[in-house]
Amino acid sequence: MEKIRPTGITADRTQRILTITWSDGQAGHYPFAGLRAICPCVTCKGGHDNMGGPPDVDVLYVTKNEGVTIESIHTVGSYALQIVWSDGHDTGIYTWDYLRQARA
Ligand SMILES: [Zn+2]
Repeated sequence: MEKIRPTGITADRTQRILTITWSDGQAGHYPFAGLRAICPCVTCKGGHDNMGGPPDVDVLYVTKNEGVTIESIHTVGSYALQIVWSDGHDTGIYTWDYLRQARA
């Protein structure tokens, strides 16, 4: 089975929503602040032992969508996104799997 990949990535800085469309026709809409709150990096997770888990979708969609915004987005290899946030944080690598699990 072919791996599901993003076919489009759009950051709407007015609505504060990151939209990813996937190769299977689905789409995910991710509020900026929530996405920042579920940053999967070692610092945000509080240590290596806490990494690799599924995204906390409650945090993602309940976090008040204000404050931090996206400065830029880079793809990492063919498996992930690196998001540079307006607070200077940029070490979070959001894999396709992570983002797929978090979609709503
Ligand atoms: Zn982080």
